[in-house]
Amino acid sequence: MSERPQPLKAINKFFEGKEPWQIVTMTASSVLALVWAHSLYNAKECVTTRLRKEFFRWLRQVPIVRRKIDEKMAEVRRDFKRDVAKRLAGVTIRRELPQKGLSAEQVAEEVRDHLSLGAYDWKGGNVSGAVYHINEEIGHVACQAYTLTAYTNPLHADVFPGINKMEAEIVRMAINLFHGDEDCCGTVTTGGTESIMMACKAFRDLAYSKGISNPQMVLATTAHTAFDKAAQYLGIGVVTVPVCPDTLTVDVGAVRRAIGRRTCLIVGSAPNYPYGTMDDIKSLSDIATQCGVPLHVDACLGGFVTAFMPAAGHPVPQFDFRLPGVASISADTHKYGFAPKGTSVILYRKAEFRHHQYTVSTEWPGGVYGSPTVNGSRAGGLIAACWATMMFVGRERYIQMTDEIITTTKYLEEEFRKIDGIFIFGKPATTVIAFGSKKFDIFKMAEFLHKKGWSLNALQFPSGVHICVTHAHTQAGVAERLVADMKAATQECLKDSSQPAQGRMAIYGVAQQISDRSLVSDITKYFIDSMYYLPQPGDADE
Ligand SMILES: *Cc1c(COP(=O)(O)O)cnc(C)c1O
Repeated sequence: MSERPQPLKAINKFFEGKEPWQIVTMTASSVLALVWAHSLYNAKECVTTRLRKEFFRWLRQVPIVRRKIDEKMAEVRRDFKRDVAKRLAGVTIRRELPQKGLSAEQVAEEVRDHLSLGAYDWKGGNVSGAVYHINEEIGHVACQAYTLTAYTNPLHADVFPGINKMEAEIVRMAINLFHGDEDCCGTVTTGGTESIMMACKAFRDLAYSKGISNPQMVLATTAHTAFDKAAQYLGIGVVTVPVCPDTLTVDVGAVRRAIGRRTCLIVGSAPNYPYGTMDDIKSLSDIATQCGVPLHVDACLGGFVTAFMPAAGHPVPQFDFRLPGVASISADTHKYGFAPKGTSVILYRKAEFRHHQYTVSTEWPGGVYGSPTVNGSRAGGLIAACWATMMFVGRERYIQMTDEIITTTKYLEEEFRKIDGIFIFGKPATTVIAFGSKKFDIFKMAEFLHKKGWSLNALQFPSGVHICVTHAHTQAGVAERLVADMKAATQECLKDSSQPAQGRMAIYGVAQQISDRSLVSDITKYFIDSMYYLPQPGDADE
């Protein structure tokens, strides 16, 4: 018998004197343990998060805790319903199809009634983000285009070649704004979320094609929640990276450390939604190039502003296809592209990337079916309205409107910085200004501003409030009124600074303190439910 190598001898020695059944059992359990360890490593959530979830799941099963939670949740649902009933007071609630159709005038009248519901003067510029311009002329041109094309469906390219051409032109005009070359390509989608989801799908499938079975994306805590949504839909893991506490831009060193064998995508924001700060896209691009990982730049909010800022005399750092690591860009035509809601673009450096975005079914009895985006039938009217807006506004007017928006933002930032008691988060790069306070509960201030008619957005971890400045805020007197109300609000909050927020804004402070995040999730689901709630007599006081 030949001499056995050293490791085998050791193994034989280990099993010496053991029964065959023992050997089988030990082998099987160590294999199972390895599989389990591998699944932990490949999991989409880290171990502490899961342990924490398990703990709360267990706690919720304790009867007394369960009862308390059920009571509280019933109250929450009742409150949400009551809010809806209050908001809808005065309009007819319709539960049945009208037996005989209403007249065109009646329909228009009812639409107007519905539009007049709601407490905020959004046309007057009292709302953060949401509506990006108030201009009847631009709106008229877009709606005219929609009227002409509302029933077209560019899924059928042979029937509506003109709509396909318009889509291709929107994509090409956007590529040129972001300095892409002839190889760049893209598609129009229904919004920023879909653009982001499409990029995530494309780079997930690119990773699959390279044999990575459990791809992950590396993104900052401040990256838009659409990436998390995409991860939930598409089964991609998320590795979250912190932002630097003073600049509120992604910690570039941490991004580099987070990149591994499974990374399918790095994400940078230009700028991000919460603070409006711009990640260092140049450094991210360098990392992407060195590591051979694609970089997606989320310019959903900023894209159509940053593209015109240099020409408007407001320099911005480079963030687009001029940086070699940038593989894709998302930009929303329905934000600062000023198109009606329902369009955005996703752009890629190479055709190969866009191919991974498509879905194709070759075996369906309904025929070989290929489609570029999430939708099957597509709204040609939205594409035409977007195209019409871009053609009508044109480069000069985009530059002018961008200048008006940025000038207003800079005025607001400057004035906010003068207000004692609040601070600005980082350096606003484009149109978002986020503020907080070390002296009082910032949601108390938000509550005060809400009472003055302002709808601003609440931020958490840490507590803050932001305003996304749109063209609606450039209307005469709006910015000055906001500054005056901000000053008055700060004065008010400083008077009794130990008192936390009361009223509707208090919820944002409370939500951060609930350590069982599944409860926050449940409450959010009840809120969404309430959007589909139609009040019935006697309902709200059940
Ligand atoms: C608005 C926004 C998105 C998502 O776009 P939707 O059009 O709302 O789906 C993505 N990223 C940023 C930074 C945004 O502000």
